[in-house]
Amino acid sequence: MGALDGQVAVVTGASRGIGRACAIELARQGANIVVNYTSNAEAAESCKAAIEAEGVQALVVQADVSKPEDAQKLIGAAEEQFGKVDILVNNAGINRDKTVQRMSVEEWQAVIETDLSSMFYCTNAVVGGMRERNYGRIVNMSSIIGQMGNLGQANYAAAKAGMIAFSKSAAKELARFNITVNAVCPGFVATDMVEALDDKIKEALIAQIPLGRFGTVEEVASTVRFLCTEGSFYTGAQMSLNGGQYM
Ligand code: NAP
Repeated sequence: MGALDGQVAVVTGASRGIGRACAIELARQGANIVVNYTSNAEAAESCKAAIEAEGVQALVVQADVSKPEDAQKLIGAAEEQFGKVDILVNNAGINRDKTVQRMSVEEWQAVIETDLSSMFYCTNAVVGGMRERNYGRIVNMSSIIGQMGNLGQANYAAAKAGMIAFSKSAAKELARFNITVNAVCPGFVATDMVEALDDKIKEALIAQIPLGRFGTVEEVASTVRFLCTEGSFYTGAQMSLNGGQYM
């Protein structure tokens, strides 16, 4: 018996990295999973196979969640296939790092739309059903950068700080419907996003982390699992897991 037997979870950006690990961890607890991706169909299919190996069902849905109509399509497909959504993990994200002076309007907007607006679009689409059933767990993948800011990441920091403030507001609105909304704020985690950084930058970053290493996707996924299983008194919280880089 898994803690999430019979539940349904939608994970945005589940084809790779942190989202994939969250999807597999929630599947391990017994939830059926909707795997969202935008362009990497092969990676999404690989995640689906890993989920099915846990003995639950997976549905792959291509949707660019930075577009409101695609977010509606994603939640609609989940509800059509499984009849409900109990858990929404707003994880899809990108970065387009530049100094404020060099950043283009397109780079600003791409990050705000993909990392911040997508969370509103998906949450807006899912909460009606959660309210009717008087149950929901919404987990928003923010970042240490939303808490402390960072050189060259003003767009990303603004989006991730916005996710924290949104989570607190939605938590207050939705608590009476037994829907919790929390932000997870990982520090640097070894995924494609971080591996793409220059080696010198990676070394400098590790030097700032008291535990002396990047986090793993499994460590983030176990925090998400906690919020969806035993963490029923957490709402509006910022779950900081960052190796001590920001306290
Ligand atoms: P990643 O390895 O680059 O994977 C990003 C995922 O998001 C992929 O599945 C990608 O799909 C999907 N995606 C991107 N744009 C999308 C869109 N418009 N619609 C739907 N899906 C989209 O990233 P990651 O490092 O795992 O990061 C995941 C989340 O954690 C992000 O929100 C990131 O900001 C946050 N985070 C990461 C770190 C870190 O150190 N890695 C730290 C703190 C927070 P495709 O495969 O189709 O491209």
